Amino acid sequence: MASPIEAVVSPPNPNPNPNPNPPPSHKKECIHVFWHEGMLKHDTGRGVFDTGMDPGFLDVLENHPENSDRVKNMVSILRRGPIAPFISWHQGRPALTSELLSFHTQEYINELVEADKEQGKIICSGTFLNPGSWDAALLAAGTTTSAMKHILDGHGKTAYALVRPPGHHAQPTQADGYCFLNNAGLAVQLALDSGRNKVAVIDIDVHYGNGTAEGFYCSDKVLTISLHMNHGTWGPSHPQNGTVDELGEGKGFGYNLNIPLPNGTGDKGYLHAITELVVPAIEKFEPDMMVLVIGQDSSAFDPNGRQCLTMEGYRRIGKRVCEMAERHSDGCLLIVQEGGYHVTYSAYCLHATLEGVLNFPVPLLSDPIAYYPDNESSSSVAV
Ligand SMILES: [Zn+2]
Repeated sequence: MASPIEAVVSPPNPNPNPNPNPPPSHKKECIHVFWHEGMLKHDTGRGVFDTGMDPGFLDVLENHPENSDRVKNMVSILRRGPIAPFISWHQGRPALTSELLSFHTQEYINELVEADKEQGKIICSGTFLNPGSWDAALLAAGTTTSAMKHILDGHGKTAYALVRPPGHHAQPTQADGYCFLNNAGLAVQLALDSGRNKVAVIDIDVHYGNGTAEGFYCSDKVLTISLHMNHGTWGPSHPQNGTVDELGEGKGFGYNLNIPLPNGTGDKGYLHAITELVVPAIEKFEPDMMVLVIGQDSSAFDPNGRQCLTMEGYRRIGKRVCEMAERHSDGCLLIVQEGGYHVTYSAYCLHATLEGVLNFPVPLLSDPIAYYPDNESSSSVAV
């Protein structure tokens, strides 16, 4: 009996018979994926979910949700899933600490270097800098900027930085929410420093991309857009509240667009928000570079999110964002990995997103678990 994958994907076919799954319908040939296995060495430990705590009365503790297994599956699905022939792999590299100063302050970087020397420190709630973590953070930052440079140098139109630890909560002066260095923010700044004039960031991680927003809060050269759970502030490391009235300041006023969405928004609600709010904002801004910040923690099964996207929703979001990049930035699109904590479904949702970016006419991979339908009656009022 054919596996679900075999049922929807034809094997490489050397004979002239028509292939039931034709190649991507537009000129984008592949996605350039930047990765380095040293990022697996960031060990976030075990405990009660993300606390690192052993209360003493539980027999079985669990891995911290931001663990290496989730990313191992993202790597393996891109290597061995049906999208594999359309992926071009590139080796990542560590950032120099001097590069980090384009987004972060020297004082903050010094704090992290000192914490690394102390061999283990909780930087803020749920955010552990253990032996190996700093090297992994430098790899995530350098790998993301390498992916952006690949596009800036004209070697490809679409690059994906498959990185951890994540970065979009990291602010210029402090860590937050499992993040130390703002990988996407560093890449955006590199684009600006290389002559791009306007960069748009669309962040679909289930949490507010507060660090990226903060880094460009006073800039009219970067339009930061974040679709997220309406989670509000969560303590001193995350003072931003993610509401619609956080619009930017000074020259940057009007260049931060927060789109908080109700729990359970689902595929149709997200697409509605993108069509009604994101597309017009991008049309008006006319970016010459686009960055899609992805987190599979917006999925229906994520332990850290309540937003109920399925593979189909991710696929359609990937397609819509790619269409915007084709229209405005000559197809130039950097995709940056953030959260996504369901160890298997996150990989499937990543695969679906990249299918959408490549604009396959039919899904390459069927959804193994999304059987519970959207509550469509609430989709139109989701925004
Ligand atoms: Zn997240």
